[in-house]
Amino acid sequence: MASAQPAAEPCPCGRGLPYPECCGRWHARHAADGTLAAPTAEDLMRSRYTAFARLGAADPTSDDGARTVTAMVAYLRATWAAETRPSPADLTLSPGDPAIRFTRLAVTDTTGGGPFDSVGTVTFTALGRDASGARVRLTERSRFRREDGVWRYVDGDVAG
Ligand SMILES: [Zn+2]
Repeated sequence: MASAQPAAEPCPCGRGLPYPECCGRWHARHAADGTLAAPTAEDLMRSRYTAFARLGAADPTSDDGARTVTAMVAYLRATWAAETRPSPADLTLSPGDPAIRFTRLAVTDTTGGGPFDSVGTVTFTALGRDASGARVRLTERSRFRREDGVWRYVDGDVAG
């Protein structure tokens, strides 16, 4: 008899697929053997948004939550270009730190970023709430670079 698995949650990135069939594929591949497999800049951007969303929603005082935090921080660092990559401490919130809980993502524009491109941009708006419950709205045009077949986030221009 199968162990009790919760019904698959919809992926936070909003594509309408269950998490394991959407961004969860790229997270799981990375956790399994370090492979970064997102084929396009948009796939990578969505998987990074989803990693931030799971990071913000995780309870680091539970075993499950602590594992999620470790895995998502590792994924975010691995998918960051070396020259702009933050330290683990900069990505790991101490207990009690305000975390943004992202609730919605809209990708509004992309340029390049395909399997045969070496650069790409993704413009998106992310909605969430901060620790006080206030609405947060982040619009960014992110730049991505593909090296040795691997897409990574370089930096972005925040607007609005
Ligand atoms: Zn997704």
